[in-house]
Amino acid sequence: MSDMMARLFGTNGVRGVVNKDLTADLALRLGKAIGSFFKGDVAVAMDTRDSKDMILSAVAAGMMSVGANVINLGVTPSPALQYYVASHNIAGGVIITASHNPPQFNGIKCVGPTGRELIRADEEKIEGFFSKDMKCCQWDSVGTMSSYASATEDHVNAVLKHVDADAVRKAKLTVIMDCANGASFISAPLLLKRLGVKAIILNGDPRGIPERPSEPTEENLGELISLVKSKKADIGIAHDGDADRTAFVSDGGRFVGGDEGLSIIAKYALSKKKGPVVTPVSSSSMVDDVVMKAGGTMIRTAVGTPTVTKVMLDNKAIFGGEEGGMIFPEHQLCRDGAMTAAKMLECIAKEGPLSKQISKLPVYHIIKRKIDCPDDLKDPLLKFLKDANKGAKADMTDGLKLIYADGWVLARPSGTEPKFRVYSESKNKDVALKRSDETVSKAIEFVKRASN
Ligand code: MG
Repeated sequence: MSDMMARLFGTNGVRGVVNKDLTADLALRLGKAIGSFFKGDVAVAMDTRDSKDMILSAVAAGMMSVGANVINLGVTPSPALQYYVASHNIAGGVIITASHNPPQFNGIKCVGPTGRELIRADEEKIEGFFSKDMKCCQWDSVGTMSSYASATEDHVNAVLKHVDADAVRKAKLTVIMDCANGASFISAPLLLKRLGVKAIILNGDPRGIPERPSEPTEENLGELISLVKSKKADIGIAHDGDADRTAFVSDGGRFVGGDEGLSIIAKYALSKKKGPVVTPVSSSSMVDDVVMKAGGTMIRTAVGTPTVTKVMLDNKAIFGGEEGGMIFPEHQLCRDGAMTAAKMLECIAKEGPLSKQISKLPVYHIIKRKIDCPDDLKDPLLKFLKDANKGAKADMTDGLKLIYADGWVLARPSGTEPKFRVYSESKNKDVALKRSDETVSKAIEFVKRASN
């Protein structure tokens, strides 16, 4: 636990292997720190992991011991908790989830009164409480716990306010929905029912060890892809464990890349309203091409949803997101899996089959790699790569992004694991591969030398 003391929160809250990194003791203490920070009513929700009750109970007990009242929403998608917090005028929320990580993991993530993920400065305040001797409140000020069972339904109703449900109903779509045995097991079937589509639900029962790994990647969605083909469905939709992310399979059974989905919805959003679209430096140039052509403007940020949402708010963006997580500001400023699914169905109903929409997108080749890099070598490696590319056209928004006439290379330290990520993109696959190879071998060599 000692290395978790310095910085508890990673890119996505506090995460770890249950009863090894993430124990009930740690959760209790963190609950006290979170309760001390929020000083008010706090909603809690969880995904379907086996450790959910243990972690939620410990966090809730910690919060109540410092006087916070806890509202327990039960198993609820992250965006539904975020919507509940934003629409109930309470101090904040806590989500017990490890999102797409394997079942032995769990995590604790906090959102502020607006429902948006806490910014780093606020997480540091919680870490500050955690590292101090936290006092419990007097016996007669201990917080209480109440339950609220309708957060999922409230959230589905909110999503439907922003979707042309009549158009979706009229299109008579067939949808295969893969819930990953996760928190969307009630909300996703309910949403599809309300949208009047013919839905076949896959992995729709909640369980701690899912039928397929929770991350909605092409490799993990084999069953969904074959069902879309065999049932001749209009689309396959897949969530991760806490349903903030959504992946798609087109009619015909082709996996839709995160940047492709983002581009299609950006284009559709711009057909209704012009304005800025926000995405991190790691997204494909395909998004720029599509946004420019559709009359929008593009803003690039550092990687991470809190940053993307902050920039969206500051610039009155009409749409934003990053790989697999889309943000619709007219609904709420967070990644919302249900809203993403609903908007894609509306887009198909109005603009035609997904396969046709994909065929109109510009083609880019993006190579994503990550190499092992101990945390203490991340900054030195970044500096080494910057020095090695002095004079080249570069963007330093997040890590090092080298800009070429026919593509780019992004080298950046991972915020969640001891890895360094290298992305290389070009319309020419060989060029993308060659540049990826060059940067990756330079980085590996540096880590090897520095580790000896
Ligand atoms: Mg997630």
